[in-house]
Amino acid sequence: MEPTTDLATCLLCGAGASPALNLPRFAGASCQGCAQRVGHLLVQEPTLLTDIWPLLADDAELEEPEPTVQRADGKTVELRQVIAEMKRELSVEDRMKLAEMYGEIGLIREQLEECGRVLVAASAPALAQRALDVLFSPELCSPRGIEELRGRLFPA
Ligand SMILES: [Zn+2]
Repeated sequence: MEPTTDLATCLLCGAGASPALNLPRFAGASCQGCAQRVGHLLVQEPTLLTDIWPLLADDAELEEPEPTVQRADGKTVELRQVIAEMKRELSVEDRMKLAEMYGEIGLIREQLEECGRVLVAASAPALAQRALDVLFSPELCSPRGIEELRGRLFPA
């Protein structure tokens, strides 16, 4: 879905959202500021969000030792670290593509975290919208996801 320029009320902060990022599943919209706040939470505290995105708790791969690779200089490093360095070179659009690919191959925790990074970095509403479409899909997000997030972002 495309972001719209109609004035809508943000489901999270309650302010006018323009451009409005659509959250059709929750019959409303988010402003860009709140989308970015959600991204920060996902990147910084994914383990605290498992009631909203249950698959963030999918730690099957944590039980296995992280594979290591040998660098050109002979040093052995964790594969995870090498990937993190490579990702730093990617554009936000490429990171979004990566997130979508993670979904296709079933790496959902990675997909969710990558969407969070896109939200943190995205200046273009169309990219933020793509990340939100994934994050708030019925397959991944709890039906109470928006309410829960509102409570986290704006504690009463
Ligand atoms: Zn907002």
